[in-house]
Amino acid sequence: MSDFETVIGLEVHVQLKTDSKIFCSCSTAFENPPNSNICPICCGYPGVLPVFNKKALELAVRVSLALDCAINEYIYFERKNYFYPDLPKNYQISQYKQPLAENGFIELINGSKIGVERVHLEEDAGKLIHAATASLVDYNRTGIPLLEIVSRPDIRSALEAVEYLTSLKQILQYIGASDCDMEKGSLRCDANISLREKGDKNLGTKVEIKNMNSFKGIRDALLFEEKRQKKSILEGKKILQETRLWDVDNSKTIVMRSKEEAHDYRYFPEPDLLDFAVTEDLINLERSGLPELPKDKKERFIKQYCLADGDIKVLLSALWLADFFEEAVANFNQPKQIFNWLTGPFLEQVNGLDGGFKTVGLCPAKFAKIVEYFCSDKLNNLAAKKVLAKAIVSNRDIDEIIAEEGLAQMSDSDDLTEFIHLVIEEFPKPVEEYILGKETTIQFLVGQVMKRTKGKANPKIVKSLLIDALSKLK
Ligand SMILES: [Zn+2]
Repeated sequence: MSDFETVIGLEVHVQLKTDSKIFCSCSTAFENPPNSNICPICCGYPGVLPVFNKKALELAVRVSLALDCAINEYIYFERKNYFYPDLPKNYQISQYKQPLAENGFIELINGSKIGVERVHLEEDAGKLIHAATASLVDYNRTGIPLLEIVSRPDIRSALEAVEYLTSLKQILQYIGASDCDMEKGSLRCDANISLREKGDKNLGTKVEIKNMNSFKGIRDALLFEEKRQKKSILEGKKILQETRLWDVDNSKTIVMRSKEEAHDYRYFPEPDLLDFAVTEDLINLERSGLPELPKDKKERFIKQYCLADGDIKVLLSALWLADFFEEAVANFNQPKQIFNWLTGPFLEQVNGLDGGFKTVGLCPAKFAKIVEYFCSDKLNNLAAKKVLAKAIVSNRDIDEIIAEEGLAQMSDSDDLTEFIHLVIEEFPKPVEEYILGKETTIQFLVGQVMKRTKGKANPKIVKSLLIDALSKLK
């Protein structure tokens, strides 16, 4: 037995983008000071009553539709009972027996479909911060609406797991359901992984991995665990059903608890909340409001812009990038040139800004103008980049910047002829060499003209004018 198949299932938790919490009116703002977004409801004081946030249900329905899930006609909540310092009520309001939605799928870039088993709503717990001398708790996160999205064990490699997460994140961001910022904890992922002999229909013993804080962490943890389990099986050891933690500093998984220590959560229906109907009206409203999903956008981009698959993948990686591209192309219909300038010099500039794309002022139309000026030889490469740098935050008028900086390219042969004659007079030796057949010397002469025009000349035109002038000396 040496040929194994890896079986992975992922449990993703995403915070829904609502202004207030799921069962109270406290703010969900991440930047507020610790324990300022709290009230008796989310802190679990006795006698308070939760009130279900309609917006959370709407966003959850939107996600379920985007993942092609069947949505149940009504939902009810259950209490998941456990004690932990980040959970002031000692229970979490969640969904257990019947989730909001079931049986969806996500199609990956390689074409394989990964099943989505269930999508359910719950409230987030607080955040524990372990400092050097004390452990602190922040209840701002307590009660933020959370959606748990559980995949079927259809994923076959660490790479595929990352592809699944990338696609899921893209969908959630496109439909405005979550910002999916892993650094802020608005997207978190646990993984189940087991191995089995190739061709075997039964699943092997699964191990759950927690505490992975980035896509890279998820990939590394799964690769480590795959190797560890394979080694154990080959040594004749039994895989134990357990929960392991990803130890990022030492790049390995470590045991957190075994199956025997697993919790019994004693679920029972939440008595303080009624059942909620998920009406046809709500579903239709959310369905009609769904924006174009990444997979549909991809199809359209292939047809409309004739770009390579790799290029399209880059553009679709962020909705703002895809939108910016489309608007720029609408202003200057050269998709490949727009793509090159957008993913090259433009992104370079954006990455250099403190606030990233949020601080970009340059509108797509003005960006398109820079690219157009470059393509029509009005600006050379260096000058176009300079204009871009001046306009990226300010969104100033492009022509104004060009005039102010004196960056307009000299393409007019009358203007350039004077410089060409000066250079021919000044460098008789290279001129003679060229005339005698050493054609590479032309580059040196072009360079001299460029220097005298302070880089503003169009090198292509300079070269052709030089060849012209030198041919008359032969
Ligand atoms: Zn509250």
